[in-house]
Amino acid sequence: MLYYTLILGRMTTKSRHAFSSTESNVFIRSTMATSVKLNTGADMPIVGLGTWKSPPGKVAEAVKAAISAGYRHIDGALVYQNEKEVGEGIHAKIKEGVVKREELFVVSKLWCTFHEKSAVKGACQKTLSDLQLDYLDLYLVHWPMGFQAGPELFPMDSEGLTINDDTSFLDTWEGMEELVDAGLVKAIGISNFNREQIEAILNKPGLKYKPANNQVECHPYLTQEKLINFCQSKGISVTAYSPLGSPDRPWAKPEDPSLLEDPNIKAIAQKYNKTTAQVLIRFQIQRNVIVIPKSITPSRIQENFQVFDFTLTDEEMKTILGFNRNFRVCPMHWGLKHKDYPFNAEY
Ligand code: NAP
Repeated sequence: MLYYTLILGRMTTKSRHAFSSTESNVFIRSTMATSVKLNTGADMPIVGLGTWKSPPGKVAEAVKAAISAGYRHIDGALVYQNEKEVGEGIHAKIKEGVVKREELFVVSKLWCTFHEKSAVKGACQKTLSDLQLDYLDLYLVHWPMGFQAGPELFPMDSEGLTINDDTSFLDTWEGMEELVDAGLVKAIGISNFNREQIEAILNKPGLKYKPANNQVECHPYLTQEKLINFCQSKGISVTAYSPLGSPDRPWAKPEDPSLLEDPNIKAIAQKYNKTTAQVLIRFQIQRNVIVIPKSITPSRIQENFQVFDFTLTDEEMKTILGFNRNFRVCPMHWGLKHKDYPFNAEY
C-alpha cells in the first residue's frame, strides 16, 4: 500500500488508538486524529486558525469565532502586526470561561530581523507581551533568512530586494533553545526550511532540542511529498500554510491558478456535500499534516472546522496529490539573493 508507511509511521498515540482493525484504507485510518503528537510529547491540534492578513480590527472577532467553533490552535507571527488583537480574542474567550489557557495551542514566529542570537529573546517577549501570555506552545523561526536588524521589518535595497545580514540560522537556533530553558516557549520549530537546512540543524554540534515542527506552504498545487516525508521520518511534524492557496495574498495575479475554483477539487467536494475549502483541509488531515486555514469570516471559520465527519478515499487522495504543479503562492522572491534563500533546492 503506497501510503501505508508514510501515514502509519507517523500516527499520533491518539490516532493509533482510533484505528479500526481493517487495513483496507490507510487514509481512513487517520480519520479520527484531531491532533498530532510532537517530539516534545505535546499534542498539537491538527486544525488551527491562520491570522496573516487578518486586519487588527477584525482578528479578535475571528479568534473568538474560532474558539467558539472548537478551534484550539491559533497561528500567528510578530510580522503579521496583529498579535495584540489576537491576544484580545484569546483572553475574551478565557474570561467567558469557554476555554482555559492550557487547552489552547498558541503559535508565533521569530521574524527575520531578529536572527542575532542575542535578539531572539526580546522578539519572543514582545510577542508574549502583545498576546498577554506567559508562554507560547510553539515558536518558529519564520524563515531561514536573517535580514538587517532595525525598525523596518522588510529592509529593502534600491532593487527591491531585502537587505540581509550574515547571521547563521544555527546561532539563531541556539537562541531559540534558550527560550525553552527560560520557560517562555514549550516547543520550538522552523518554517520555510528546506531539507538541507533542516539537516544542518539536526547535525549541529551541541544540538539541545530538535525542531518539533516545520511550517511550510502546502496544498494540492504544491504537495511537498518529499519534504513532508523527510520531516516526518525525522520526527518533525509538518504544518501546511496557505492550504486554500491564499487567494488574498497581496501579489495574487488574475492568471494564477485558483485552488478554490479548481473544478476537479469541486467535483470531489460535491460528492461529499462539502465545500472545496473543506476538501483542501481534509486532504492535509489525512496526511497527518497540521493545517491552518485563515479566515475573518465567521461562517467560513466554522466551515473550515467541519472536516472531521467525512473521509476522502485512497483513490481521491492520490488524485489530489496528482494535481501538484510546484506552484508557490509565497515564494518570498525579495529574498532571492539571500545566502539562505530556501526555494532553490529541489525540496
Ligand atoms: P489561506 O488560508 O490558504 O487562504 C485564506 C483566504 O481564503 C482568505 O482570503 C479567506 O477569506 C479565504 N477563505 C478562508 N476560508 C474560506 C472558505 N471556506 N471558502 C472560501 N474562501 C475562504 O491563506 P494564508 O492566510 O496564506 O495561509 C493560512 C495561514 O498560514 C496564514 O494566515 C498564516 O497564519 C500562515 N502562513 C504562514 C506563512 C509562513 O511563512 N510560515 C506564510 C503564509 C501563511 P476571508 O478571510 O475573507 O474569509
